[in-house]
Amino acid sequence: MLRVAVIGSGPSGIYTAEALLAARPDAVLVDVFDRLPAPFGLVRYGVAPDHPKIKSIAGALARTLSHPSVRFLGDVEIGTSPIVAELRAHYDAVVYAFGAARDRRLEIPGEDLPGSVSAVDFVSWYSGHPDSALEAELHTDTSAVVVGAGNVALDVARVLAKQPDDLAGTDLPQHVLEVLRTSTVADVHLLARRGPAQARFTTKELRELAEIAGLDVLVDPADLELDALSAQTVASHRDVARNVEVLRGYAAAQPAGGGRRLHLHFWRAPTALVGTGHVTAVATDVTHLDETGRLRPTGATETIPAGLVLRAVGYRGAALPGVPLDADAGVVPNEAGRVLRDGVVSPGEYVVGWIKRGPTGVIGTNRSDAAETVAALLADLPDGTGAAGLDPAHAIGWEGWLAIEGAEAAAGLPHGRGRVKLASWDELRAAASGTSRAAGSGEPDGG
Ligand code: NAP
Repeated sequence: MLRVAVIGSGPSGIYTAEALLAARPDAVLVDVFDRLPAPFGLVRYGVAPDHPKIKSIAGALARTLSHPSVRFLGDVEIGTSPIVAELRAHYDAVVYAFGAARDRRLEIPGEDLPGSVSAVDFVSWYSGHPDSALEAELHTDTSAVVVGAGNVALDVARVLAKQPDDLAGTDLPQHVLEVLRTSTVADVHLLARRGPAQARFTTKELRELAEIAGLDVLVDPADLELDALSAQTVASHRDVARNVEVLRGYAAAQPAGGGRRLHLHFWRAPTALVGTGHVTAVATDVTHLDETGRLRPTGATETIPAGLVLRAVGYRGAALPGVPLDADAGVVPNEAGRVLRDGVVSPGEYVVGWIKRGPTGVIGTNRSDAAETVAALLADLPDGTGAAGLDPAHAIGWEGWLAIEGAEAAAGLPHGRGRVKLASWDELRAAASGTSRAAGSGEPDGG
């Protein structure tokens, strides 16, 4: 029997378990560890609450995690107890699937002013991540800026721009919904430092903005004029051409005067967050691409008022004690999923997902990524060696997770909502151990 420990129960970790089961149906046991009491990683703590179709991937992930040859071991912090060396001693293979949990920084003056928040923290807040300490302030101004032109920027801009009632049907924690109800933000400005042909949005996410009730999406047609390089990109990439077409539709549309506005600005590179004591504006350089494709300031500048700035410029991987990390790239050094220590393949250690390849791609990308890692693992280790595995006494297992799910369903009842997430360690642990009031009686459990 091959015994494999997977560190991280997000999509890449669970797809690893799935691929192992598919290849060795009766000859593998997989323990999937997670630091958090709840599984599913960014499916639970990253995918926006108003994207239920993407969130429903959790159903398929749950089938793998509840398979008789797989154990979910939540609330176990690898690196503290047990440490990585213990895992390596007790399993035939260890697969690192702990993702990229930190934010990339802008590295500009004023970045740490109050009111400047990384999108990673904002997403954790509205997702009810138990580590979130953010007290989001949405009532200090009518204008907010989102920096970045990726799907995370669109997610956070949408959550800010939507009417709170349109989010009440989601599993947003109750306290988050209440803060969103206090929001005075009417204008959300999204700043892309390059042009529409370089933006990293996916077209579906861009189109979805048109369906938001009471929201005008505003684009300056001048921002959509294509330089020669951008025109080439549009001509050679259908997805980029579709994005530009959707943006042209927004630029041509007559605003309906719905009360909230999402301004999509291109060619605006933030140079400083402005304010004394609290952010009040974002200073930007107007930019263009030179003939070699490098981003250059035109010499013009623009300052956009904002009492809240969300920095959505990407995630980055962080170290786990005992695991090598290429700090610049934010990934565990590897060759097709085999971990490298000092440039040499380290037997029995593998890596998958964002901590293997960087924070790119959609959830499904992790399935092919896991297939590559598992192929390497099985080529190296066709059979098990009788490794015993570990049994951390305090781990929250699958039954504990089901109890959390039950408590979350019960927590929604008093608010007339469906499932509502529990957002603190205490609530999650209490629910898992069956001592949550919400689990037993249907009474509210906060969150
Ligand atoms: P991303 O797609 O890499 O986008 C990051 C954005 O930040 C880029 O537009 C980048 O611009 C910009 N940026 C970086 N440094 C900057 C700076 N110093 N100043 C201004 N802008 C800067 O990352 P992400 O949005 O965090 O998404 C991560 C991954 O998750 C992506 O693969 C995304 O598609 C995926 N995701 C998918 C969904 C979905 O499918 N619905 C939802 C969320 C996330 P440059 O291109 O100029 O560097």
